[in-house]
Amino acid sequence: RTAIALVTRDLRVRDNPALALACANAERVVPLFVRDPTMPGGAVRWRFLDECLADLRGSLRDRGGDLVIRHGDVVAETLRLAGEVDATLVTVAGDVSSLARRRERRLAEECETHRIELVVTPGVTVVPPGALRPAGGAASYRVFTPYWRAWTAATWRDVAPTPRRLTLPPGLDPGPLPPPGETPGAAASARSAVGGEAAARRTLRAFLPHLSGYAQEHDVLASPGTSRLSPYLRFGCLSPRELAGVAAGSEEFVRQLCWRDFFYQVTAAFPRINRDPLRPGGDVWRADDAAFAAWRDGRTGVPVVDAGMRQLAAEGWMHNRARMITAAFLTKHLGLDWRLGAGVFFDLLLDGDVPNNYGNWQWVAGTGNDTRPYRRFNPIRQAYRFDPDGDYVRRYVPELSVVDGPAVHEPWRLGRDLRYPPPLRGPAPAAWLPD
Ligand code: FAD
Repeated sequence: RTAIALVTRDLRVRDNPALALACANAERVVPLFVRDPTMPGGAVRWRFLDECLADLRGSLRDRGGDLVIRHGDVVAETLRLAGEVDATLVTVAGDVSSLARRRERRLAEECETHRIELVVTPGVTVVPPGALRPAGGAASYRVFTPYWRAWTAATWRDVAPTPRRLTLPPGLDPGPLPPPGETPGAAASARSAVGGEAAARRTLRAFLPHLSGYAQEHDVLASPGTSRLSPYLRFGCLSPRELAGVAAGSEEFVRQLCWRDFFYQVTAAFPRINRDPLRPGGDVWRADDAAFAAWRDGRTGVPVVDAGMRQLAAEGWMHNRARMITAAFLTKHLGLDWRLGAGVFFDLLLDGDVPNNYGNWQWVAGTGNDTRPYRRFNPIRQAYRFDPDGDYVRRYVPELSVVDGPAVHEPWRLGRDLRYPPPLRGPAPAAWLPD
């Protein structure tokens, strides 16, 4: 029997349930990735994806197999290949965005028509979205704490075995990898992460000694206190299930993985999360193109906000605390629509995905499942608290590198010409703004 293991957001050989299932049920297994040029996302993610593909191809070749790469529509290309190799089984990891679900539905229809068995496996989250249901019959948990309780009490699936050897059908052309740098503007910045399972495991190994300090360090903006594994989880270079097991010693860290699952199950129940507010009411914003451009380009005149936006542009990643500060600045201080900010993040983040990006944006904007939607963020108080020496700001805002210590957070108090703009004002008065 020949099976196609369709790889989408699970670009790894370790703990890959879809790949393991194909290997357990067929003598010949064709791992397939279809590079669909209409996939949403900015150039940095394409570059990262292509590095992931090269790495996965190498791992599969080491095991006697290969990664077949096709270009175009995922469903059409899968069916075409199934015809070429006479496959009777297709395996794929289930996913939750509306795009992914539409693809899954079409794939199911086509497989049925062509009498091919389709098996949708877990693999993108620790606990599959929809597996836990709140009492009362709602489709998903809307509040995090009860979800966390159910999630920690749930039995997680076993880690899937890593395939030792794969056999491909004879005469199969695996197709070329996209040449490096093919995507315009996608050259890797020196500061941005490299894609692939090997790089994911290096990053994990480097982080594990810091795990015990995670609870104290993860909010400190200038510290390497977080794992930086999010791009690898985004593309599935690392299994979230495996990671949750390895990191079980730090409840605070595992809790973050639960937040990730939380937003996946919200998205499964509410696929329009990237367009419509999760909670009706309060979704009213003003328009101000100049303020939006200043925010996007990191020149709001509020150092900690500008540092966050410039970190995003330089690294394709931003510290979680800075994401909260910059998102709150856009929505709560400037009064601009969360969809605008989420769109910028979605384009520039290596880890940008629908559930986490839009779920977190709605949480900050107060349109989501937050239980305290009217919380206000004072960016200056946040800056003193989470960047107490000002090192984070100096690292990303070179105009301010001449200012020592935490004074860097309020340059308007220094009375110096720093070639740095005055802070941007929003529609409402803010206690932290200079008079
Ligand atoms: P760590 O602190 O090491 O956490 C480990 C893992 O837990 C992360 O890799 C991530 O998978 C998960 N995690 C941590 N915090 C959160 C959270 N708040 N929500 C969901 N999962 C979390 N994360 C994304 O993966 N993709 C996004 O598009 C995204 N957009 C965001 C937008 C906003 C406005 C905000 C406030 C947060 C967003 N996050 C997003 C969540 C979080 O900021 C990142 O996951 C985290 O900064 C990644 O860095 P890390 O891997 O070092 O995290």
